[in-house]
Amino acid sequence: MSSFDYFVGNLKCPKCGEVSPADETTGMQTKIQRYSDMRNLGIGDEVKLDSDVESSGYRCYMEHRGNSLKLIEAWECPSCDKPYNCALITIEDSKIVDIVEVELTEHVIRSVNYIFEECSLMGWHVSRGIVEFSDV
Ligand SMILES: [Zn+2]
Repeated sequence: MSSFDYFVGNLKCPKCGEVSPADETTGMQTKIQRYSDMRNLGIGDEVKLDSDVESSGYRCYMEHRGNSLKLIEAWECPSCDKPYNCALITIEDSKIVDIVEVELTEHVIRSVNYIFEECSLMGWHVSRGIVEFSDV
């Protein structure tokens, strides 16, 4: 299956200050669901997690337990096209309880389970228990 879903949320751009609509224009494609079906996944929506989150496009900092996890996803501002903004997505008991914009720091990465793979393009190297940054 090459299908995916979108995480969606009202996210404030750190560059232009505009708040995005909670729709697919922020480009947060995810394969985190076992059976993805091009749905928009926002706060309050149910997520049926894939058993192997890491292989669905994320680096693992800390294994999650059960059906709860935190992850960082990248989004693009639909107003000014700034790429690689970050959002913190919180899933509790298979339900999305929060999606909020976040500045990417070591502290933030150490508070989540997973982060989008392309963070390496921004200089972040993340693996189990390890967060390192080097200028790219
Ligand atoms: Zn913007």
